[in-house]
Amino acid sequence: MRDYKIKRILIDKNVRDTPLVKRIIKKAGEVEVKEVLLNRKKYSVATSFTEGKRSILLTDFPGSFVKPCPGTGKGYLCCGYTVINQPVGCPLDCTYCILQDYLGPSPLILYVNPGKIIEQLEIFLGKYKNRVIRIGNGELADSLALDYLGDFSSFFVSYFRTKKNAIFEFKTKTDEVDGLLRLPSSENIVCSWSLNPPPVISGEENFTATLERRLQAAYKVQEKGFMLGFHFDPLILYPGWEDDYEKLIEELFTLIDPSRIFWISLGALRFPPSLKEVIQQRFPHTKITSEEMIRGLDGKLRYIKPLRIKLFKKIYSLIKDKAPDVFCYFCMESPDVWEKVMGFSPSSSSNFRKLFEQHCRKVLNLK
Ligand code: SF4
Repeated sequence: MRDYKIKRILIDKNVRDTPLVKRIIKKAGEVEVKEVLLNRKKYSVATSFTEGKRSILLTDFPGSFVKPCPGTGKGYLCCGYTVINQPVGCPLDCTYCILQDYLGPSPLILYVNPGKIIEQLEIFLGKYKNRVIRIGNGELADSLALDYLGDFSSFFVSYFRTKKNAIFEFKTKTDEVDGLLRLPSSENIVCSWSLNPPPVISGEENFTATLERRLQAAYKVQEKGFMLGFHFDPLILYPGWEDDYEKLIEELFTLIDPSRIFWISLGALRFPPSLKEVIQQRFPHTKITSEEMIRGLDGKLRYIKPLRIKLFKKIYSLIKDKAPDVFCYFCMESPDVWEKVMGFSPSSSSNFRKLFEQHCRKVLNLK
């Protein structure tokens, strides 16, 4: 399923003759192809959000692909995730997407110098040989939405399946798993889905796969032998949310084997104040900005704490009823919210990272 259609490929003149660029253009089929001369300081081909999401820029990148997850300010616990920024930008169009703020209305970018990524990963993983690193490419993009063009699944699976101190995660809201299903599986490769009930998907997550298709795709990936992850993030309040999330969790565990789930995260809707105006302008129908929110310790708008706790308690208990042993964590929450919902808190980000690492070692049978 792919409801979005790429209209234009912009090629940086520096990379026009590389085999990878030629392959991507061939796979893209009937699209406009245009050469551009880039100003290295900024990608000066910005258009409107809608145009940007239908244009792909092919270029190389001399900088750093591998970075710590930006996480959030003090007061909230971060899990110590690492991100690989390839690709950058997403053709899907969620109303609440933070990339509208981070990236603005720029074209999607596929970097066509993968050798540089490998070089940087070798240095990075070498530096943390005694640790277990969790790393993924779903921070500045949907990991699989452009897989049909960029073949990221093949690139990352081939590299990471032999790296036993690393766990690589694809994060998606699509059902674009054909590439992954063609590859040999590995326990240190996780494919994860962000889940929300159908009214949220149809109202807020434009161009993404339906819940049914996401779960079917997860089932196929499970049967192939990869590990799974699920992100109940962003959890969104609306009339009827309790029944809808309950049905969703029921459907999830009807299809998915809890022992194949590496992790489940929970996070409530949050965004920087500057995004509020963009959301209201671009998506006047949405009600997500009209809930009562406060400015958190990191400056982002979030639901008030009693509401977050109510939301988390409900979702957490539904998950634990079905899968008591599954590893759950909060993305960017405060220690007292952990305490009130899960009955304990790692109390600091460094303890959180250690807790996560212990869990990963157990699953992967590492010492
Ligand atoms: S899938 Fe993720 S990256 Fe893509 S638009 Fe939605 S929130 Fe943004």
